[in-house]
Amino acid sequence: MAEKHEPPRRRRHPGAGRGRGRNRPRGRQVDPEALEQVRALLGDRPRRRDLLIEFLHAIQDRYHVLSGAHLAALAEEMRLALAEVYEVATFYAHFDVDRDDNAASPPDVTVRVCDGLVCEMMGAQDLLAGLPRALGTSARVLPGPCMGGCDRAPVARVGRRYVERATVGSMTALVRGRETEPEIPAYKDCDAYLAEGGYTLLEECLDGTRSREDVVEQVTASGLQGLGGAGFPTGRKWQIVRGYPVPRLVTVNADEGEPGTFKDRYFMESDPHRFLEGVLIAAWAVEAETAYIYLRDEYAEVREILSRELPRLRDAGMAAHVELVLRRGAGAYICGEESAMIESIEGKRGLPRHRPPYVAETGLFGRPTLVQNVETLYWVRDILEKGPEWFAAQGHNGGAGLHAYSVSGRVARPGVKIAPAGITARELIDEHCGGMAPGHRFKGYLPGGASGGLLPASMADIPLKFGPLDDQGCFVGSHGMVVLSDRDEVRAVVRNLMRFFKHESCGQCTPCRVGTEKAVALMERPSWDGPLLEALGAAMADASICGLGQAAPNSVRCAYRYFREELP
Ligand code: SF4
Repeated sequence: MAEKHEPPRRRRHPGAGRGRGRNRPRGRQVDPEALEQVRALLGDRPRRRDLLIEFLHAIQDRYHVLSGAHLAALAEEMRLALAEVYEVATFYAHFDVDRDDNAASPPDVTVRVCDGLVCEMMGAQDLLAGLPRALGTSARVLPGPCMGGCDRAPVARVGRRYVERATVGSMTALVRGRETEPEIPAYKDCDAYLAEGGYTLLEECLDGTRSREDVVEQVTASGLQGLGGAGFPTGRKWQIVRGYPVPRLVTVNADEGEPGTFKDRYFMESDPHRFLEGVLIAAWAVEAETAYIYLRDEYAEVREILSRELPRLRDAGMAAHVELVLRRGAGAYICGEESAMIESIEGKRGLPRHRPPYVAETGLFGRPTLVQNVETLYWVRDILEKGPEWFAAQGHNGGAGLHAYSVSGRVARPGVKIAPAGITARELIDEHCGGMAPGHRFKGYLPGGASGGLLPASMADIPLKFGPLDDQGCFVGSHGMVVLSDRDEVRAVVRNLMRFFKHESCGQCTPCRVGTEKAVALMERPSWDGPLLEALGAAMADASICGLGQAAPNSVRCAYRYFREELP
């Protein structure tokens, strides 16, 4: 069991309670004990602003909470205003700030139960109701947004340990046994990857056998598109970044948080070096000096894997041309948006930037930056080894290449399905998922996770690729498909999704911040006001700064379009 460390209690200033003492310094005073604790934790690491989130993690990992005393000490140590530290600490869901500063340490163990759509369909609310009674004061139980395990729902975390198909019994046993550390799945490590010819392609790039121009041309010819959701042509993006002056950077978006999407986790947990070889080749192609991998905090197992494998990769001499940096998110869905992710890597709140300028020109630390998703980079080796024609020919119905579809919900065999781009929902269910789960009749599906809209089963023959779903008010996004059955209520589905967006809105712009809140309030009434919800949705779609607010109303608008008779 981890040693329990008490955060320092706030010291009462001698002048407190006597009116405005003339000698009292303004603002919060730094507690010497807290300052020493923070200094000990940070060691000789540079006190750079971009490391603020890393330092907050270090404090919380040690003390289980971010006390006011520690925040003030960290601000002092980093020469930052306390407000700057506080606003970052309170932005991210995984930081527990002791707002009352009462120094009452929370229990050592925190249990988070995913209350995302699929987990709710599979009983998350029963867990949230039953666990506090079963666990008493031995752990605190909190709801949490999607944890990237929709195919094994309901999922939860006990400390850093991921629990699939969670029950009150299984969770209680883990808490009682203090089994809170991640279980690392079997994966292909550096030696195994090298043994199967891994990194040969990278060596050909580095030794001049392949030229940068040729590699970019092949990636372009393959038709590979960004698989984080936007679908921007990958080769074209590499060309654009190369057009801006050095020094350039790469950021890898490993922050998939779209409810219904868990494919990047699958790749990083099973074959991390195939993805890493893609990172190294992309960095070489755009002549980047540093590549940052921004990993969502929910993926503690992946963090362990990458923390082991990155040094092995360096030891094997494969990363001499670029510095690889692993950065830890802190529980903010919006940081899957590329400019918000960049803000977060810089140690700030994840607020999406206004564009232009685009990140390709002015990205991380103001430099030209290539932003790519994990799966996109995973396919680079196959494309260059087997040829762009091979990859392009894998698609169906006009799609190019292979995609990893995250399939969850009421199918017999949910999971990550590698299938041709352009496959239909019906084909995916019947040919890759063993059909519907026993006792369930296909009613509808979300083609692109929480934000990609909602379609009825009668429209399950539309190719799942970028473009064809636009006319239906939907998109395929990061290819996370949630299948609904006759046992699922559309009103509950779209209300769950809107609550998620309300929770995850960064709050920067009014249409999204207020719109999601008002929409949830309207959807909690016994009778829904369709015209008002539509007007609200139109304002959000038209006037929000980023894709979160623009796409938040998609599912409810689709519900009115395709499931009107089911809405109250
Ligand atoms: Fe933030 Fe929402 Fe505005 Fe995006 S749309 S910037 S998430 S408030």
